[in-house]
Amino acid sequence: MDSYAANDAIARRVRAMCQRVEEIKASKFYFYNQPVDELRGGAWVRVGNREMGMYASYSYLGLLGHPRINEAARRAIEQYGTGTHGVRFLAGTLPIHRELEETIAAFKNADAAVTFSSGYVTNLSVISTLVGRGDYVICDKLNHASIVDGCLLSGAEFRRFRHNDMNDLERRLREVPSGAAKLVVADAVFSMDGDIIDLPRMVELCRQYNAWLMVDEAHSVGVLGKTGRGIEEHFGLEDGVDIKMGTLSKTIPSVGGYVAGRAELITYLRHACRGYIFSAALPPAQAAAANEAFKVILDEPWRVERLRANTAQFIRGLQSAGFNTLATETAIVPIICGSDEMAFMMTRECQARDIFVLPVISPAVPEGLARLRATVTAAHEPEEIARAVERIAEAGRLLGLIH
Ligand SMILES: *Cc1c(COP(=O)(O)O)cnc(C)c1O
Repeated sequence: MDSYAANDAIARRVRAMCQRVEEIKASKFYFYNQPVDELRGGAWVRVGNREMGMYASYSYLGLLGHPRINEAARRAIEQYGTGTHGVRFLAGTLPIHRELEETIAAFKNADAAVTFSSGYVTNLSVISTLVGRGDYVICDKLNHASIVDGCLLSGAEFRRFRHNDMNDLERRLREVPSGAAKLVVADAVFSMDGDIIDLPRMVELCRQYNAWLMVDEAHSVGVLGKTGRGIEEHFGLEDGVDIKMGTLSKTIPSVGGYVAGRAELITYLRHACRGYIFSAALPPAQAAAANEAFKVILDEPWRVERLRANTAQFIRGLQSAGFNTLATETAIVPIICGSDEMAFMMTRECQARDIFVLPVISPAVPEGLARLRATVTAAHEPEEIARAVERIAEAGRLLGLIH
């Protein structure tokens, strides 16, 4: 079939997107869903017949392919097979699901935890379960799309404060009519900028204004804190986050999402979240892999230290080469390119030098702030990082981005 017969709004929307994709493909700048043929350790990938240094990985601690984690997954398949009988409340709950939730709760210093089929579903389902019409949900402007979608689905009054600006958060909290329920949500580490939310002040404000606080730790578990436990450990806060949300698909090399918190909250979510009740349980192998990964983080503390040293080296190197890396303090390092086209050209030149990075353009980031979203992991050697910085700088000079 060549194209849809209809010429209505849906057909026009579909066609407009396909046209844009075709144009970008024709310009040879199409990096979307670029296939990687092989993952070699944490720090290398094979693309076609090229071996490239991997600087676009979420596997911050280099746990992807860890023998203990692979073995746990294999054992779970032998014991349970590859799926469950469906949703958790029918016949989908296995001992490994319980065990994983206990492991997460202990790791996050919480009473209990509940898992979902992805981080995206976790945010969507948890936020829309906790707040609804008449309530207020208040977000950092740069929060992840899954948080935004959860807020929209909830039907609550949706307010946003300027990025990491606690005075603006306070202004938003003050605007809420008295008596209305309030939920504040923020990323711990921002996925496009790599900076860290001012958690101590946010906790204070939430207490002062009687708001619940939810923090998304997709990029902070394994990354922040002396032992990798995340943002509370980073700031030395005993407690303060009511809803500790995270994903099992980044530092934890599996798939799924979770919330940890007080026992009552978790019981409530388990019985009220539609994304939990009406969606299948995690496959046993993925639950077992995630469970093992949390243990490996605690057993191999050198990984967190190594990530910290590598991050400092990478950021320092790029900055002294003259790149703008915004306010990152973590393994997510934006290399600001400006225009979408410059981001595409930088990607091509870096990949031509066997450095695997990918561009992020508008609308994912503000227009004019297109970038390479580079990451570094515990799996990189200091010499590899030095070489990567050199090659990215070479590309930047060639294109006139730096001098
Ligand atoms: C990746 C990400 C998610 C979604 O997690 P998935 O498990 O991949 O669905 C949610 N929040 C943030 C901040 C993320 O970066």
